[in-house]
Amino acid sequence: MDIASGISTGLAASCLIAQVNGVLWDMTRPLEGDCDLKLFKFDSNEGRDTFWHSSAHILGESLERVYGCKLCIGPCTTRGEGFYYDAHYKDLTLNDTHFGLIDKQAKKAVAEKQPFERIEVSRAEALEVFAENEFKVEIINELPEDKTITVYRCGPLVDLCRGPHIPNTSFVKAFACLKASASYWRGKADRESLQRVYGISFPDSKRLKEYQHMIEEAKKRDHRLLGQSQKLFFFHPLSPGSCFFLPHGAIIYNKLMDFLRKEYRERGYQEVLSPNIYNMQLWETSGHAANYKDNMFVFEIEKQEFGLKPMNCPGHCLMFGHEVRSYRGKFSLAV
Ligand SMILES: [Zn+2]
Repeated sequence: MDIASGISTGLAASCLIAQVNGVLWDMTRPLEGDCDLKLFKFDSNEGRDTFWHSSAHILGESLERVYGCKLCIGPCTTRGEGFYYDAHYKDLTLNDTHFGLIDKQAKKAVAEKQPFERIEVSRAEALEVFAENEFKVEIINELPEDKTITVYRCGPLVDLCRGPHIPNTSFVKAFACLKASASYWRGKADRESLQRVYGISFPDSKRLKEYQHMIEEAKKRDHRLLGQSQKLFFFHPLSPGSCFFLPHGAIIYNKLMDFLRKEYRERGYQEVLSPNIYNMQLWETSGHAANYKDNMFVFEIEKQEFGLKPMNCPGHCLMFGHEVRSYRGKFSLAV
């Protein structure tokens, strides 16, 4: 018996994903023995991520049906809300005038109540299924030898995915494309140009309306627009990502610094100033290089690699290590 049919109908209608012995499993996957079972709804991170990841398949299905594109990757967004699908189109550049058609196709997929069907395949079978999609073939060829390869069938779409997913598409009661932008395969500028479509979905349409209202309100408060219209600051391509503060912006900046310094003093902190650029050795020690190097601003000076600081703490560690310290030291100062 699968997990979903083992629980009450009411619960099965709202539970999106199960956790079996600490591993996320589809609700439709049969239990294989005694286990520790947890169930997640949309109000949990596990439930929401699964819901949005599954919605990315619906988006992929729509994109493939409408535009015949080659799908690349379609995850839920790790920062923020919703999901996206990167795909390779011949000459088409997507923009929001295309969203009506994509949304309509997605609604069709939802109305069809398409189940997410998990299928284990051999490497050879996977390569055959995706023979016409060089992007998926590249991913398959990079999977470790002993990896169990799974594909998921959802309506007409068969997609390479390790899952898990919501039971079927009908759980997605509200779906909308948000924006389209250009991207590169693997995030590398020397690889194929792709189009990325972002979407959002919810288990009811009220939440989608609230979300869309929030986005509209946030747009009015977009700091990039306010910065321009109130002449506070601007950005220039000759120093990308760095802010030029204009006189009124500098007043606000200094006010914020005054506020911060007051808070430091009141909370018993002392102020220090640390450099902005460090040898990559520091970021290797701190773990930033291993985890975030692709998103760091890295450059070479005299054959050595340096990186702009993404955060202060590793610099503070160097300050702490600058002199010998003892827990007794603190007490001797106090007396
Ligand atoms: Zn998936």
